[in-house]
Amino acid sequence: MAEFDLVILGGGSGGYACALRSAQLGKSVVLIESDKLGGTCLHRGCIPTKALLHAGEIADNSREASHYGVNAQFLSMDMPAVNTYKDGVVGKLFKGLQGLVKSRGITFVEGHGKLVAKNTVEVNGEKYVGKNVVLATGSYARTLPGLEIDGKRIMTSDHATALDYVPKSVIVLGGGVIGCEFASVWKSFGAEVTIIEALPHLVALEDESSSKLLERAFRKRGINFELGDRFKTAKVSADSVTVTLENGKEFTADVLLVAVGRGPVSSNLGYEEQGVTMERGYVIVNEKCQTSVPGIWAVGDLIPTLQLAHVGFGEGILVAEEIAGLNPRPINYDGVPRVTYSDPEVASVGLTTAVAKERGHDVVELNYDLAGNGKAQILGTSGSIKLVAEKNGPVLGIHMVGARVGELLAEAQLIYNWEASATDVAPLIHAHPTLSEAMGEAHMALAGKPLHAHG
Ligand SMILES: Cc1cc2nc3c(=O)[nH]c(=O)nc-3n(C[C@H](O)[C@H](O)[C@H](O)COP(=O)(O)OP(=O)(O)OC[C@H]3O[C@@H](n4cnc5c(N)ncnc54)[C@H](O)[C@@H]3O)c2cc1C
Repeated sequence: MAEFDLVILGGGSGGYACALRSAQLGKSVVLIESDKLGGTCLHRGCIPTKALLHAGEIADNSREASHYGVNAQFLSMDMPAVNTYKDGVVGKLFKGLQGLVKSRGITFVEGHGKLVAKNTVEVNGEKYVGKNVVLATGSYARTLPGLEIDGKRIMTSDHATALDYVPKSVIVLGGGVIGCEFASVWKSFGAEVTIIEALPHLVALEDESSSKLLERAFRKRGINFELGDRFKTAKVSADSVTVTLENGKEFTADVLLVAVGRGPVSSNLGYEEQGVTMERGYVIVNEKCQTSVPGIWAVGDLIPTLQLAHVGFGEGILVAEEIAGLNPRPINYDGVPRVTYSDPEVASVGLTTAVAKERGHDVVELNYDLAGNGKAQILGTSGSIKLVAEKNGPVLGIHMVGARVGELLAEAQLIYNWEASATDVAPLIHAHPTLSEAMGEAHMALAGKPLHAHG
């Protein structure tokens, strides 16, 4: 039996962030991981998908090179080489993270852990007792009834991030963030892509205006999508898969990617047996990520907050600081930045128009079209920055579509989280010509003094 200040179960974004911050605060920590330190984000999520998207961007750049006067030609994708590049990025970060955990004096245990008492996790027959236990076992890719994942014809993002060929055609079931990112990658790689989404829009959690702009851009790129139609069956044959929708429409492709969301990894881990309150498999926590059992905490995709790596980091740090007695401020989840890294990107922070109105705000809106932005013209991108604000009050939400707009979130989140109004932001001079200039101009326009804005 070994005793620690914190026993952390799961070494993904949430778990390792908690471990690193706790060690920094002088606590003794054991971090238990059954697979690889870094979890979904590093090995099967954020990092590999963004590497694939970057390879796709280069493929598209080579196709469009002549438009910019560059003599280059797109020949084909070399997927083994793409994977070498992608795995190289992951490998470097993995090594760095392992070194960081070691250098902070964190005890790392490899193995499948189970909560066997309120303060104890058992791994490989060994018991680890903690003054605190942090549950951080993350999430898995869900499927639908009747959809058998075989990893070949019908796959999840776990398989898609490791694929060693470009399918000729793909059906993506689910038009959320992960579905749209893979649709974008595969289209750039040269596949014929169809997205099937039961809701009326792609990236349906975003402001409707962003969804519509993304749909327009995808249509222009030749990415097909069927909205508002529900999946009924999928039939696998020797060389294809056929999907039938409830409305009778049929689609056939080489592969089917199931991207219908992620569910919590929580069954048979002893959580319920130790009295932890759960709902639909999620661990329920208060605003400080404390579960119903004193001394047990939970973070990351395991709890019903936004399933994002940086949310996991934030929750891990929050728990570490709360345990250390620093009384940190609870997370304002509306103020968390969100990005879909497709081409074009969709990025937002704060409230959509619909949510702002639901919450009783007296809403004003401003749409700044990127057509008025020099850098957007140079890059050949279109899209917009939409501001949602309280009339004569603070900015309530910022919603962006266009190439590289994810990078504009740094400023957008400061504006939202510091409750700035358009008149606070308008006098700040933005560098010309940058995309960030569009952020400044949008606020200038909302403050009643538009510069390069029409209408
Ligand atoms: C394709 C894809 C793309 C994504 N892209 C982004 C992105 O661009 N940006 C972003 O912010 N988020 C992205 N995400 C989401 C992000 O990956 C997750 O929000 C994040 O990984 C959650 O961290 P976590 O620590 O809660 O869980 P995880 O990262 O899933 O880590 C949980 C860890 O616990 C381990 N574990 C589970 N059970 C046990 C057990 N019993 N014993 C020991 N260990 C156990 C698992 O092996 C795993 O390593 C993406 C996800 C996917 C799938």
